Amino acid sequence: MSSVKLERISRKFATAATTPEQRFMGIDDISFEIPDGEFWVLVGPSGCGKSTLLRIIAGLEAATSGNVYIGERLVNQVPARQRDVAMVFQNYALYPHMTVAENLGFGMQMRGIDRSTIERRIKDVAKSLQIDMLLDRKPKQLSGGQQQRVALGRAIARSPQVFLLDEPLSNLDAGLRDNTRSELQQLHQQVGITTIYVTHDCTEAMTLADRIVVLDRGYIKQIGTPQEIYHHPLDRMVATFIGTPPMNIIPAIYQDRYWQIGDSRISCTPELAAKLQLHQGQGLDLGIRAEYLTIDPEATANILTVTIIGVETQGRETLIKAQINGTTVAINLLAPPQWLALASNTPRAQIGQQLTLGFSLEWLFIFDPSTGRRLFPALH
Ligand code: ATP
Repeated sequence: MSSVKLERISRKFATAATTPEQRFMGIDDISFEIPDGEFWVLVGPSGCGKSTLLRIIAGLEAATSGNVYIGERLVNQVPARQRDVAMVFQNYALYPHMTVAENLGFGMQMRGIDRSTIERRIKDVAKSLQIDMLLDRKPKQLSGGQQQRVALGRAIARSPQVFLLDEPLSNLDAGLRDNTRSELQQLHQQVGITTIYVTHDCTEAMTLADRIVVLDRGYIKQIGTPQEIYHHPLDRMVATFIGTPPMNIIPAIYQDRYWQIGDSRISCTPELAAKLQLHQGQGLDLGIRAEYLTIDPEATANILTVTIIGVETQGRETLIKAQINGTTVAINLLAPPQWLALASNTPRAQIGQQLTLGFSLEWLFIFDPSTGRRLFPALH
């Protein structure tokens, strides 16, 4: 097992684009250090550079500049097969003509490990992944989930210093993905190998990670624990990428000590206005998560008046989609008690109905509309 350190890694791909910003795509100035044994998830939208970064760590791609360390060792010039990392891809890449047992043992055989050790490792790994009854089958006789477990098993059997997983669950259907995700979590607890996991799925990131690295267009937006990223996003992109539904972002205009959103207005204390250096007519993006909006027909101040455009009942939770001044917001109601309170006033939430929403200012975020940077709560 080993730590992994990236020092100012950049990878520029020349493109045919004409503007300077678009001319080079790739990743830019990425630095972080993953302590030995931690599970880190790289997350971000398509094209943000997740796979490129993973391939650079694996040695499958060279960085344009910067250093990669695995443990104490600088590995920039070390070929992939000598880095002692195991990579699992979304397409499994099993050898089709070999049985499961042969697939599991192949890497060890290539490294000259003796037969009895190989057999013992195959047995142990197959048992921990619950594929021990499949050892004589060929990959085409396995389901997608079973194939993916063999691919993981092949990586584990090698006992690498580092695991690199590139969207390993994305080919599985929803149920299997949930199961395999929990298995991966348990497996990491058992083997404790430093793991870097790439996904664009924020649920996977939130459930698996010790720390999440949010990437956007080749840059790091934020690194933090799932809780930090969810509750203290530094930036609008992070706030809207992590969390389901995404954080509501409501454009507002500052006017006479109020944030005005169409006909609704939220009061802003003079102290806060001074702290944020707000000026008349300044546009701001207000951010509030769906679970912190409450239906409050009695409220008279700090209310948002919205019109329902959709109601999704999801068992214990009800997700209401509504519009305010042309912006769609989501309201997540846990039933009971909120839903019952709503029911006593209005028998059922109906499309077209108006709702009065309240929220506590302590759950409010304010973002700069042009840069997306968080203005409130202030960044230190
Ligand atoms: P996805 O989730 O879609 O797999 P990603 O976050 O893994 O995306 P990368 O595959 O790392 O993104 O790509 C990052 C950027 O670099 C993209 O803009 C991509 O088009 C570009 N890119 C990647 N490989 C090359 C290449 N060989 N030549 C030119 N551009 C490339």
